Amino acid sequence: GVASADEFDFFYLVQQWPGSFCDTQKGCCFPDTGKPAPEFGIHGLWPNYAKCRPAEPELVDDVEMVVDGVPAIGRHHRRQKCWPEYCNDGNQLNPWEIKDLVAELDSHWPTLSCKSGRSMEFWSYEWKKHGTCSGMDQHGYFAAALELKKRHSLAAILADAGIVPSDEESYFLSSIRDAIADATGAVPNLECNRDAFGETQLFQVYQCVDRAGKKLVDCQLPMQGMCRDRAKLPVF
Ligand code: 5GP
Ligand code: 5GP
Repeated sequence: GVASADEFDFFYLVQQWPGSFCDTQKGCCFPDTGKPAPEFGIHGLWPNYAKCRPAEPELVDDVEMVVDGVPAIGRHHRRQKCWPEYCNDGNQLNPWEIKDLVAELDSHWPTLSCKSGRSMEFWSYEWKKHGTCSGMDQHGYFAAALELKKRHSLAAILADAGIVPSDEESYFLSSIRDAIADATGAVPNLECNRDAFGETQLFQVYQCVDRAGKKLVDCQLPMQGMCRDRAKLPVF
């Protein structure tokens, strides 16, 4: 269906630490292009509402099953929609449209999923779910994500602050957040996950971006993604 690609308030540029994607119970697979560099990789550029809003009344009246099965409803709350998604299922990613970006996407937006080694499938999924709600065209969307990602190297920012990948060390989340805020001028959100031994580690960094997809802004919404006060940054 076509959901309204209407007013969202900001984007999350979400980047994943490959070490933390790969060392979980589930593991990971490298893409056809080979092992990615030990750098954060793009997960997606996601339009968001600043405030969750009630879901469409006709969906709220129905029972949960129906709500769950209907696209264009973000989770967190069954009766709430916190972001738009799947805004135009007919608009599939056309590889030709982003031909000139593929080499850069391969290095900055590699897949680590074992479902397929083809990163193009990851980009297509992200385009369909999030990109179709961005108000941008296909080339504009992927070019914007790359520009934002290339502006700052999160791994370099952390290394400059003494936060280097290690299988022993753990770091204060506050020092990770401060290092990124100081270097980029905008406060990020952090998400943690658990490695195969149950240890907390930094998994994803969420940077907030203005509606135009150009400027980093402070993230205001608090997030709780399994982070405690400390987390590891595992070697990749
Ligand atoms: P998870 O359950 O792993 O946090 O999220 C699953 C998927 O839901 C994400 O890959 C993303 O597509 C979507 N998602 C989760 N949180 C957010 C959010 O805050 N904003 C948007 N736009 N999508 C999200
Ligand atoms: P999201 O969490 O964005 O809704 O879903 C991400 C989807 O893309 C999942 O279905 C996942 O299998 C696929 N995918 C492919 N490569 C990657 C990757 O490197 N990281 C993540 N998080 N998902 C990936």
